Amino acid sequence: MLTSDQINTNSGDLYDASADRYKKYAKARHVLDVPQPLAIVYPKDTEEIGMLLKFCNDNGINVIPRAGKTATEGGLENWKEQTLVIDCKHLDRILKIDPYNMQATVQAGVPLQVLEDELRKVGCTTGHSPQSKPVAKYGGLVATRSIGQLSTLYGAIEDMVVGLECVFPDGQVCRIKNVPRRSGGPDIRHIAIGNEGTLCYITEVTVKIFAHYPENNRFYGYLVKDVDTGIKALREVVTNGFRPSVARTYSEEDAAQHFYHFHKGKCVLLFMAEGPKGIVDATCQAIEDAAKKFEDGIIEQVDSKLIEDWFNNLNWSQQDIDDEFEGMKEHDSHSGFTTEISADWETIPKIYHNVMKRVREEYTRAHDLTMLGGHSSHSYINGTNMYFVYNYDIHCAPQDEMRVYHHPLQKIIVEETLKLGGSMCHHHGIGKYRNEWSKEEHGSAYYMLEKLKEAFDPNGIMNFGTIFYQEEGHKYQI
Ligand SMILES: Cc1cc2nc3c(=O)[nH]c(=O)nc-3n(C[C@H](O)[C@H](O)[C@H](O)COP(=O)(O)OP(=O)(O)OC[C@H]3O[C@@H](n4cnc5c(N)ncnc54)[C@H](O)[C@@H]3O)c2cc1C
Repeated sequence: MLTSDQINTNSGDLYDASADRYKKYAKARHVLDVPQPLAIVYPKDTEEIGMLLKFCNDNGINVIPRAGKTATEGGLENWKEQTLVIDCKHLDRILKIDPYNMQATVQAGVPLQVLEDELRKVGCTTGHSPQSKPVAKYGGLVATRSIGQLSTLYGAIEDMVVGLECVFPDGQVCRIKNVPRRSGGPDIRHIAIGNEGTLCYITEVTVKIFAHYPENNRFYGYLVKDVDTGIKALREVVTNGFRPSVARTYSEEDAAQHFYHFHKGKCVLLFMAEGPKGIVDATCQAIEDAAKKFEDGIIEQVDSKLIEDWFNNLNWSQQDIDDEFEGMKEHDSHSGFTTEISADWETIPKIYHNVMKRVREEYTRAHDLTMLGGHSSHSYINGTNMYFVYNYDIHCAPQDEMRVYHHPLQKIIVEETLKLGGSMCHHHGIGKYRNEWSKEEHGSAYYMLEKLKEAFDPNGIMNFGTIFYQEEGHKYQI
């Protein structure tokens, strides 16, 4: 039985809970068009979560699981009149740090930064460093398939999760045990990882941890003539078997906002190498060799201190998020909107150029764009991502912003990506604002996704409208 202090019906908090950062401008201007949830509840353990889910399942009440509230794609937005937000803030215990077996177990409401700080005390790191690290919590990090800045070395969250506990809408609690590897049928961790609150509620997670060698960190930065050269240099390093922790190429437009003090109107290629000294030395050699190989496209090397300073100031605190929100109450501009896609090495530059060209030619609000560019920030043996970033001035009613500005831009990026066989969502999830392309994203494999939803959430109470397109929710979508 929940106590009254576990149930929040404060109108300001309900308004806040009705949308996430996706509609932050409309939210800041108090013109949100979505219903407010009935309440936000704060269960204290798995049993209470099971009870709440079962109650909602039996009574047709929509559930939105919530963790650190940094969602960017509408995963926390509410599209139903009867909705309960189940917040995991009381599931805030680190259950075990096990440096011998190199794993740690946390409840879903533990912020990533809290685990990272504890691990540093024993010479370890999570290896996970999304820009939202100070605020995001494990439940959300796992549910969105998040990825951090150091992914080329440590991998993304799906490479880190060893086992977990989750609860399904009928109250069934499932625990996936912690073993290094097994061949016990399909990997069922992936039913929970990336489910965005649409199949189950994640309550506990065990992740791998890594030895930390900050004293060996080394940084490299180069000004390069174009995005293609930068991507070729990333490919050279990664496909030769090296794993710098950070490996990125910024377009000139995007470089201008991050590296305004040294970019000289050029693209920026940068790396960070970390780990045991011998590995760092070899990785640095590979980076230098790649720079030499592509020297025709490399304009100059920059002081590594500039890259180190940039890296040390990347993350967003809750204060930064709050300040940005306050700013939106006054300024008619939207900055830092992103659409992150992925494709193989050959395809990614094509998508990048096609998008830039189409936006210039077709986007009716191009005159209001104050920035459109992108960067590749997560590389793999067979390809990389492209993180399109755009800022614009808003000259329409606040409630029309998404329809007038964002949706047409995102549509171009998604269409150009899917056309060439890439993925329209590299790491922010589908949320509610890319679900209109979910079927196209998955093609014939959408069958598998739909069957999972039918099997685990037959009454459709889990995060209505997220991942799965819903005609009923379309009115809120654009
Ligand atoms: C400034 C900023 C920088 C960011 N940088 C990155 C980045 O570098 N890399 C990256 O991957 N993402 C990034 N993001 C996006 C966001 O931080 C991630 O998606 C993060 O994983 C969300 O975690 P959260 O705890 O805030 O989850 P929330 O925002 O609370 O929820 C996110 C989604 O997960 C679901 N969910 C939450 N908790 C649970 C649970 N216990 N069980 C089941 N479902 C649940 C929610 O319903 C929702 O759909 C950034 C966001 C911001 C604001």
